[in-house]
Amino acid sequence: MMTNPLLQDWATPFQIAPFDAISDGDFAPALDTALAEHRSEIEAIASAAEPPSFANTIEALEAAGTDLDKVLSVFFTVAGADSNPTREDLQRQFSPKLAAHFSEISSNKALFSRVNALWETRETLGLGPEQDRVLMLTHRGFVRAGAALTGAEDARMKEIKARLAVLGTEFTQNLLADERAWFMPLAEADLEGLPEFVVDTARAAGTEKDADGPVVTLSRSLIVPFLQFSPRRDLRKTAFEAWAARGANGGQTDNRAIAAEILSLREERAKLLGYASFADFKLETEMAKTPAAVRDLLMSVWEPARAQADADAARLAEMMREDGVNDELVPWDWRYYAEKRRAAEHDLDEAELKPYFQLDRMIAASFACAERLFGLQFKPLDIPLYHPDCRAWEVTRDGEHVAVFIGDYFARGSKRSGAWCSAMRAQAKFPKPQAPIVINVCNFAKGDPALLSYDDARTLFHEFGHALHQMLSNVTYESISGTSVARDFVELPSQLYEHWLDVPEVLSEFAVHAETGAPIPPDMLQKVLDASTFDMGFQTVEYVASALVDLAFHEGPAPADPMEKQRAVLDGIGMPPAITMRHATPHFAHVFAGDGYSSGYYSYMWSEVMDADAFAAFEEAGGAFDPERASALERHILSTGGSSDAAELYIAFRGRLPGVDALLKGRGLAAE
Ligand SMILES: [Zn+2]
Repeated sequence: MMTNPLLQDWATPFQIAPFDAISDGDFAPALDTALAEHRSEIEAIASAAEPPSFANTIEALEAAGTDLDKVLSVFFTVAGADSNPTREDLQRQFSPKLAAHFSEISSNKALFSRVNALWETRETLGLGPEQDRVLMLTHRGFVRAGAALTGAEDARMKEIKARLAVLGTEFTQNLLADERAWFMPLAEADLEGLPEFVVDTARAAGTEKDADGPVVTLSRSLIVPFLQFSPRRDLRKTAFEAWAARGANGGQTDNRAIAAEILSLREERAKLLGYASFADFKLETEMAKTPAAVRDLLMSVWEPARAQADADAARLAEMMREDGVNDELVPWDWRYYAEKRRAAEHDLDEAELKPYFQLDRMIAASFACAERLFGLQFKPLDIPLYHPDCRAWEVTRDGEHVAVFIGDYFARGSKRSGAWCSAMRAQAKFPKPQAPIVINVCNFAKGDPALLSYDDARTLFHEFGHALHQMLSNVTYESISGTSVARDFVELPSQLYEHWLDVPEVLSEFAVHAETGAPIPPDMLQKVLDASTFDMGFQTVEYVASALVDLAFHEGPAPADPMEKQRAVLDGIGMPPAITMRHATPHFAHVFAGDGYSSGYYSYMWSEVMDADAFAAFEEAGGAFDPERASALERHILSTGGSSDAAELYIAFRGRLPGVDALLKGRGLAAE
């Protein structure tokens, strides 16, 4: 369609999508046109008469799909941050189309044989390091998708993938069904001791379930505070047991047999591709690379975490006895007594704290740190975006354009929950230079002035760290630009940037009272920082136990009975009796709902080890704004995208691989 605004050249400032000219009716026809265009570009590359060269194959693949990128970047931005029934419907139509499109490309044998021919002659091609890397990644992507398989193996791989997709969906649906089916009615007397917000949530849940009064459901936002605050041990037990049994209730919605089948198919898939195990297959593309490296990291955190949890358990059991309960501390007791202890030791008045964290001041703080560290400057831009709450800035350095940064900070019904960063246009120099357009989306409460909790302020810095990774990217090819890095490396820039929020000189300048302008009092600040390490023994133990079970499932032969395997792993590490896995197997959606975090659940902690270790590099060098460290961070990590192996990038920055000491210190788990 000639007039479709999504497919035009955008003659707007910085070629930002002309949101005011795009309507929902434009998406579907634009997508069809863009897909057809991309398909014919791919066909032309695959069937070219000339012998394959880096330019006519790899660079041609990089340059293909320009319109598709444009359409999808606009669509996914509005579908996530400002949806409506039409956009939801479009999303349901688009996702199978896109899955089919990309799997058609990765199983294109003619295309693969050209990529493979280049790979086999790579030494003779005279490629630069970045080109070498893009060739390796492209080739590896095809091989991992099964493009090198032929005949019966090829057919079996297709069957396995199709079956895994079905099983992943069933796993999710069963889990949802179990979560929706269960609820526990509460009599008015059962509400005693619950704070108002829990009572309100329980009443709202009761209305939703058509019950006569308040109920407890298995939604995390209700069951967790109920377990924290309800003094009724019998009710906590009933609720906890139902929560722990999700996906393991027998009958139609039981996930245990599904988990076993998934693990066995994954093992078969890895073996077909020539890997020793599924964990070896998954970790090949990660910074960790091997199951042994993951296990080393997890076990070095496990011991001190368990020691802390054991000490905490003894204290909580004592509180329970003081409460007149003469029994062992069990999982439905932990959160309740931990909350009592938190209130006694770290009483923090959120209402008193909030006026010190104004949204505008926190945005200014995140910009000021980027200016001191990297010389970036931010100038407000007045351009039409997809929602009036969106704000935009031009980012420059020494007067040169670097990027456009968009902030969409406020919660609204049309926005999905959580916070995220995406590039509406990623940085690249090929086929022509393109400057990034980066967006941070959050769900903060509106207000005048808008005030954040301390956790919100951390989220703002976190997402801005991802934005810096996109904005400071300085590579040639888009496929490796910005945050296109290994999963266990991508959270390093974001989690690292959170540390600057806690720098005393940043807080004293920017965390000022909304009415009086006074900086946050040091003792209040200390309370905030102390509270962030509270109950870390418990949190680390429940997380690491889950990560170790995930790893054990995918390393070596698939277990015939995953529940048996889970038990063996937990026995082997000496799981404290009053703590359970954060996600037990029958409801471990990270691992079984799809492939994303399978043998990858460790990666949250892997990133945390790195961010603690990387910030320590600044402290060791003399301070949070040490110019030499800042320039090394940009040179080796923030500008390099996926142009080198993540471990090499880290070593270039730090001189060595990360150690766990800084993490243990940050979590309050270091030995005294
Ligand atoms: Zn993140």
